[in-house]
Formats: sequence, C-alpha cells, structure tokens
Amino acid sequence: MNTDPGTLKITLLGTGMPKPNINAFGTATMIEAGQERVLIDCGRGTVIRMSQMGFATGHTDTLILSHYHSDHYAGIFDLLMTGTMQHPHSNRGGPLHVYGPPGVTDIADGAWIATRPDRNIRVADHEIDPEHMRIIPHEYSEGVVYEKNGLKIIAIEVDHGEFIDIAYGFRVEYNGHVFVHSHDTRYNENLIAQAHDADVFVHEVAGAPADLMAENQKVKLVIDHHATPAEVGRVFARTKPRLAMLTHLVLLPPDEFTIDMVMADLAEEYDGIVLVAEDLMTIEIGKNISVIPYNHGARPG
Ligand SMILES: [Zn+2]
Ligand SMILES: [Zn+2]
Repeated sequence: MNTDPGTLKITLLGTGMPKPNINAFGTATMIEAGQERVLIDCGRGTVIRMSQMGFATGHTDTLILSHYHSDHYAGIFDLLMTGTMQHPHSNRGGPLHVYGPPGVTDIADGAWIATRPDRNIRVADHEIDPEHMRIIPHEYSEGVVYEKNGLKIIAIEVDHGEFIDIAYGFRVEYNGHVFVHSHDTRYNENLIAQAHDADVFVHEVAGAPADLMAENQKVKLVIDHHATPAEVGRVFARTKPRLAMLTHLVLLPPDEFTIDMVMADLAEEYDGIVLVAEDLMTIEIGKNISVIPYNHGARPG
C-alpha cells in the first residue's frame, strides 16, 4: 500500500459487461484521492465488490454515471438503499449525489418511487432517515464534472454508436497524476485529444472473428458500438500513456475471440506494455505506478 498522501488510488471494482459473470461484474471504478472518494459507474454487484475491498456501502456519497447501459448502473438500487442503513457496513449518512448525462433526473425520480416500500418499513422501525434514500441528480455535459480538494474529474464526450446519445469517458487528475478511462466507445478522436499525458489509460475493447462479423448482424451491431483491438492499439500509440490497460472485454461467442487474438491485433498498432484489467485490481499512481491484483501473493481467504 502506497502511503504517500498525494497518491491517486483507483480500484477497478467491475471490469465486465452485460453478460453475468462471477469474475467480471458490471463496470464500477472507485476513485480515492486525499479525502475525496468518488465512484464512477455502478454496474451489477458493485456493493459486493466494495465489501470485498473493505468499503462500506456508504464509502462515498458521490456517483458519476458514464452512460445509461444497464451494465453501468444496474447496481444503483443496492448502493442507494443499503447505504441508508446505520451499520458500519453501510452508513452513508445523507442522500446519494448522482452525476449523469440528461436522463439522471428520471433515475432520481424513479428511484424515489421504487424505493418507497422499503423506505416506509425502515422509517416505521425508526431505522433510517428517509432523506438518505434520495438521489440528488446533477446533470453534466462535457467538461469538469467534479472538482474538490484537488481532485478533478473531467467528462470527455465519446462515441458509443449512432443511436446512443450520449456517452462519456473520464479524465481524472490529482496532484499531477492522470488516470483516463474510456468507458464505452468506438475509436474516438475527442478521447485521444484529451487523453494526453496519462499515467494510466484504461480502454474498453471488443473483438469478433471477421467471418462471424460478416455473417452475423447481431455480432456486427455489438462490435460497431465498441473499439476493435487494432483501434485500441492505435489509441494507445497516439496517446502514449505510461501504462495501458484493457477493460470491458467484449469477446463474442460462438467462435470466441480469445485474449491472444486481441493482443495480436493490438500489437499491430502498439508496441508498449498492455495489462488486462480484472475485478478488484488496485492501481496506485504516486511516485511510481503500482497495479495490485486482489489475490496478490495468494491473499488469504
Ligand atoms: Zn458497457
Ligand atoms: Zn455501453
């Protein structure tokens, strides 16, 4: 553990996609910098992953959503509702602030109605403050979404497909350190333009064999919303991060596109080191960059 207070700490809680998978939950990334704690995206199982890292459900009261595919916010009810309980494992102690593109008000309004039955029971039992079960919506557009105590989170408009209006990646800055996460996007010039000088650049990727794409419209449609391995290689080659990493691997069956195939295609465009993200991996950007897997050195339990 890096004890330098100027360290930017990132925990990849979920690195998966919509397909349920015990090893790769929906996207969720905890950002910690000094006293600041911000969660970006809240996919399926986020609260479970938080508890594995020793984070109470109320570890943060700030959530930023990249876009509205379910694998990026399906876990929000658990975070919202369980976080109200006054136990060491919860204890948010206030409403949940959710920053999102247009649509975030619908989530806040809908959640207030959908959580009412649970809220009524717990209020009757004098268990919670009902206001803690409220989402305070903050609509954002491209630019600075969050800036506090030296932590700056900048939304970068990306391109997640023709009909997906609208999706963002993020540039996180703290104490001279830079972390960039593409979230879901195709090859995108705006992201490349704003991903300069990154210490760590995490990019999504999707692949399918060429013949499968040619004959299967469904596969082609999915791949069209994402970046191919060669495209991601080009993104890394143009932005030159100190460390490049892949996440949100959409490797489509039935003829699965393997990780070896991803790396081979990517290597056509990029000759640097590329890591593959996994759930519960911690990235610390301080004096050096350390990437610590959850089961480091066969962690007990
Ligand atoms: Zn996704
Ligand atoms: Zn998406």
